[in-house]
Amino acid sequence: TGSEEPSTPEDNINVVVRVRPLNEKEKRDRHGATLQFPGNGQVIIEGNDTGAKRSHNRDSVRVFTYNVVFEPGATQEDILDYSGIKRIIEMGIEGFSCTAFCYGQTGSGKTHTLTGPPDLFVGKPNLKDPRHGLIFRSFLYLFQLIKNRKDVNYVLKASFMEIYNERVIDLLNPGSARKPLAVRWSKKSGGFFVENLFTVDCEELDDLLAVLEEGMRNRAVGSHAMNDHSSRSHTILTVHILSDQQTDGGVFLSKHGKINFVDLAGSELTKKTMSEGKTLEEANNINKSLMVLGYCISSLSDNKKRTGHIPYRDSQLTKLLADSLAGNGVTLMIACVSPAHYNHAETLNTLRYASRAK
Ligand code: ADP
Ligand code: MG
Repeated sequence: TGSEEPSTPEDNINVVVRVRPLNEKEKRDRHGATLQFPGNGQVIIEGNDTGAKRSHNRDSVRVFTYNVVFEPGATQEDILDYSGIKRIIEMGIEGFSCTAFCYGQTGSGKTHTLTGPPDLFVGKPNLKDPRHGLIFRSFLYLFQLIKNRKDVNYVLKASFMEIYNERVIDLLNPGSARKPLAVRWSKKSGGFFVENLFTVDCEELDDLLAVLEEGMRNRAVGSHAMNDHSSRSHTILTVHILSDQQTDGGVFLSKHGKINFVDLAGSELTKKTMSEGKTLEEANNINKSLMVLGYCISSLSDNKKRTGHIPYRDSQLTKLLADSLAGNGVTLMIACVSPAHYNHAETLNTLRYASRAK
């Protein structure tokens, strides 16, 4: 029965976990690790919510299972090879809308995973630098695939935006006042889009890299205004892949796929909102998009709820990701966590959220 179908709802969301290493300060302060990795996609988390190490009776042990777990020693290249992103890129080329997003508390390694350290973009990029993140590596892989298809004509376009406080800012064209852009519904495409968002034609790999670099720089400029800006904002870098292929019968086959790379706001904000007893409406100024994404993902991964109402329209982020979350595209969630005891509560929250999405 339909065994040829490329995907089932169960495969539409893939969840992997990446555990960052302890940093120098954490090592100096002798912060113990709260996580263990027995293999087979499992993570064991031990300890209690006070973060105290091995208190006698309040300790608890929980086990979660994911598609893949990247231990602290995992390299940036491992994430490209084993996260499932290659399948996402291949589906984007085939005309699907796909999304890869990093979720986790501030400081857990989301930006490191997606883009690597910021100084990578100063001066001429070294393609072989081991610190390059997933976006850079995905661009290389994408170009490698399309260069091999001489029979298909590809056009790539890219945009880079930020959602801060439910306002969409164009990171390629921020303007002097960082004026927000409107999110509108398109009858023609049956989806939401950002009006007047700058979209750059990218003929060469260098053009895509320039988009990444420019957007990163503009995000950094905005963050001087407010210290915690980057932990409260989401960024979406989108690559559109348009293709034309003449079939044997002489007809042209046109496809429009896209891949969104999303660096989410810190997940600690969701909990803060909820513990303050705010409703979805009131959450507006804190982080509505992150909360609604949580509702959407957990509804989608629950087959009973999947057919019911999914509240995409309730936030800018979910409006813009709706086609890849709801359609037949694939979503990759990379849950980023810290291994340190003092982060136990946030790490447990992220592991729970990620296992609900699976
Ligand atoms: P987030 O974007 O989730 O707030 P960052 O990506 O900025 O977190 O990471 C916080 C710090 O930890 C940065 O200094 C980053 O370079 C470092 N870091 C994160 N993940 C790793 C990793 N896998 N290997 C080495 N350093 C990492
Ligand atoms: Mg970050």
